[in-house]
Amino acid sequence: MLEDNLKFILEKLPSGVRLVAVSKFHPAEVVMEAYRAGQRCFGESRPQEFMAKAQSLPKDIVWHFIGHLQTNKLKMVLPYAAMVESVDSEHLLQAIDKWGVENGKVVDVLLEVHIAQEETKQGFSVEELMPLLEKEWRGVRLRGLMGMATNTDDESVIRSDFKRIQEIKRHINDTFPGLKDFDQLSIGMSGDWPLALDYGATIVRIGTAIFGARQY
Ligand SMILES: *Cc1c(COP(=O)(O)O)cnc(C)c1O
Repeated sequence: MLEDNLKFILEKLPSGVRLVAVSKFHPAEVVMEAYRAGQRCFGESRPQEFMAKAQSLPKDIVWHFIGHLQTNKLKMVLPYAAMVESVDSEHLLQAIDKWGVENGKVVDVLLEVHIAQEETKQGFSVEELMPLLEKEWRGVRLRGLMGMATNTDDESVIRSDFKRIQEIKRHINDTFPGLKDFDQLSIGMSGDWPLALDYGATIVRIGTAIFGARQY
């Protein structure tokens, strides 16, 4: 079933769109099941769980961190993360940059943009974003934007959220042509990923539609 779910999604993703299988709250055996079906890129949102899985599961897994990250937890995440998709404050970005410089690494990050109508979701506003893009970073590489659409059945609201983040990314690419690696747009989850494909998604983050309801 898990294999069928994966196949169903992968068949619909255009080439060039990466599937991050969101395995948070599912045990390692379940990740292995997806691994055996060929999936190599997984997303986790809690530092402890992320580290435990990254340490015990196959080394060729590409891990994306997608959850809220506190600066005192960087050591649990950054040694294993191919990408941190959920950078939602300048404070965090600076701390990751510092870690990268100190550890001789350049960490790929996405800046999380607040696009949903709900207050609860985190992320930068456009105004907050722009100054970060002007800075010279040495320990991080700004790869693009991540966003979560409003949690609603109203397709037109979701589409307008996705359209906004796509336009923000375009504006950034136009304003900062020197940011050559700023080419990623991570939008789309279980409920709305087919819509995200219409708005330039290069990464979709899908959990429930692959693994079913979360287990713990
Ligand atoms: C949990 C989570 C997902 C996956 O959600 P599903 O609805 O289960 O597909 C995607 N992105 C983020 C940031 C998440 O926290």
